[in-house]
Amino acid sequence: MQKEIVYLDNGASTKADPKVLEKMKPYFCEIYGNASSSHTFGQKSKQALENSRDIIAKSLNSKPEEIIFTSGGTESNNFALKSIAFSNKDKGNHIITTKIEHKSILNTCKWLEKQGFDITYLNVDKEGFVDPEELEKVITDKTILVSVIHGNNEIGTIQNIEELGKICKEKKVYFHTDACQSFTKTELNVKKQNIDLITINSHKIHGPKGVGALYIRKGTNIKAWQHGGEHEYSLRSGTENIPGIVGFAEAAKMGMNKKHMDKMTVLRDKLIKEIMTRIKNVKLNGPEGNKRLCNNVNLSFKGIEGEALGGYLDQYNICSSTGSACSEKSLEPSHVLKAIGLNNETANGSLRLTLSRFTTEDEIEYVMSVLPKIVNKLRRLSPF
Ligand SMILES: *Cc1c(COP(=O)(O)O)cnc(C)c1O
Repeated sequence: MQKEIVYLDNGASTKADPKVLEKMKPYFCEIYGNASSSHTFGQKSKQALENSRDIIAKSLNSKPEEIIFTSGGTESNNFALKSIAFSNKDKGNHIITTKIEHKSILNTCKWLEKQGFDITYLNVDKEGFVDPEELEKVITDKTILVSVIHGNNEIGTIQNIEELGKICKEKKVYFHTDACQSFTKTELNVKKQNIDLITINSHKIHGPKGVGALYIRKGTNIKAWQHGGEHEYSLRSGTENIPGIVGFAEAAKMGMNKKHMDKMTVLRDKLIKEIMTRIKNVKLNGPEGNKRLCNNVNLSFKGIEGEALGGYLDQYNICSSTGSACSEKSLEPSHVLKAIGLNNETANGSLRLTLSRFTTEDEIEYVMSVLPKIVNKLRRLSPF
């Protein structure tokens, strides 16, 4: 029996890298001035803030003045959608998104519908891809914004955002992408990929929780959503979380490393292959290969409940998830698995295992030493 936790729920949150924590430490008790204060001491905090902004900007191939720090992915998504909607409502009231977004997009869209905005939810194919031709068809002269998730948090599908962005650029519609899962795990480049707004966060990339950023292309018509002391270019007021922001930037810097991606890809494919060969009647949800997030495994096990499987894995100290962590309390099958066409039984039989750069081959082998036994046991108990 394994005593240490085998953490395969990195899609929900990650361990802060100890080196990130070291970088953050001085900003609690030593360099704690307010970055808005004019004294030299406060300006040290300001320097740390701007240095972090440079790092995040570089990681997206953008400019520092295009980066706004926020409290995380949820806030960045709310800010992007609500503010673009209200700042551009003289042009139109139509917004396009997809059926496989994170709840912080979907529930923001539901709220915007109540405020009089018209939302189109694009379908996806059986691997979770948006059809660019369908996007092109639904854009009207009332459309102001398209928001499509980059790397899907449940099934790992990486959208061709370059192509989607190009369509939006030609049609002169703002293009936003939620890149919380894909940031540092695949290429993100605002120039090459034609993106106007990007949501990223820290706690999915081994940084601290409660920090994120919104990239906003220069010249975008967007007004403040949170008002106050005019921080962050007057777009997002509130004294900046300097330790968090410093940690986020350090995590981004350390994360941008192809070696980590390659390592996760190898372990991901090993895990998928082992499960598919050693356990019968298993289906991979989402695409294979380089169009899948390098750390995502999502499988449906015929005849059993993912919840039950996750419960047994927990007893062996293996952290997994079913659906997405945010909807775990609801018994409804995941909206993403429904959108790719799974029936309720297959959707409820799904298990998500998400790796990180800290995941080891030994951990994968440990999972393989218990998973087939648990699946067999549950299938023997199953009435189906
Ligand atoms: C985690 C996540 C969010 C929410 O980010 P928080 O920083 O936890 O608020 C949004 N979108 C996606 C795709 C995510 O994975």
